[in-house]
Amino acid sequence: MPYTTPTSAASAASHRLPRPPCVATDWALFLDLDGTLCGYRDDPADVALTPRLRGLLSGLAARLDGAVCILSGRSAADLQRVLAGLPLPQIAEHGGAGVAARDAAYRAQLDAVEAVLRAIATAYPGTWVERKPSSCVLHYRAAADHAECLESAVTPLLPLHAGLRLLRGLFVYEFAARGHDKGTALSAQMQRAPFAGRMPVAVGDDVTDEDAFAAAAALRGFGVAVGPRASAAARFRLADADAVADWIAALVGDPAATARS
Ligand SMILES: [Mg+2]
Repeated sequence: MPYTTPTSAASAASHRLPRPPCVATDWALFLDLDGTLCGYRDDPADVALTPRLRGLLSGLAARLDGAVCILSGRSAADLQRVLAGLPLPQIAEHGGAGVAARDAAYRAQLDAVEAVLRAIATAYPGTWVERKPSSCVLHYRAAADHAECLESAVTPLLPLHAGLRLLRGLFVYEFAARGHDKGTALSAQMQRAPFAGRMPVAVGDDVTDEDAFAAAAALRGFGVAVGPRASAAARFRLADADAVADWIAALVGDPAATARS
């Protein structure tokens, strides 16, 4: 199955963003997963953390007294699979996880949208539908030539379902719960120990991370955009997932180097 991949549609402005300062131990870090800690794979089920990255994240959590949160659009089950064994709080589905389980009316709206998205996927080979517990996604990386038609097919759904919002990510249309995004999730997490009182720093590669960047900035922190995508709210930029790993390694040391010595 296809999955999203970073676009080359970079703006000159995004390239001008400087590298972030070194990670400080009094920060609260919010890290996206796909495209930020890991590269994209055609099948998201193939994504796994390397031993080096596992070592880095464990070391990071220790140095920041546990104030390291994975903030992802993936389902909770997916995150638990990828992050198994790591002592990291996880926020799934852009902060909207659990909404459908609590709200039957919302669940019905999501079911209706899923049915239409599956019909669209049948009409456009190369697209596919991912149903998460509280959101539903149409992936179209392998049908990018049909982007305009897909936009026309998808957008009329939104006014029909008041509980939903439409996220336009990298080759994805995602219908998710209105009122829940990575920004609201970050703000809520910052109320809790061990995050409270620290400076929030959000790191991510996709448009859905912009909410987290803005929320971090509102709490006197900042956002770090990953990859070439233009960012309206980030103050800094790292080139790719390898650069993110190296940035973390500058604080905690490199497990691979330690193992070799
Ligand atoms: Mg991402």
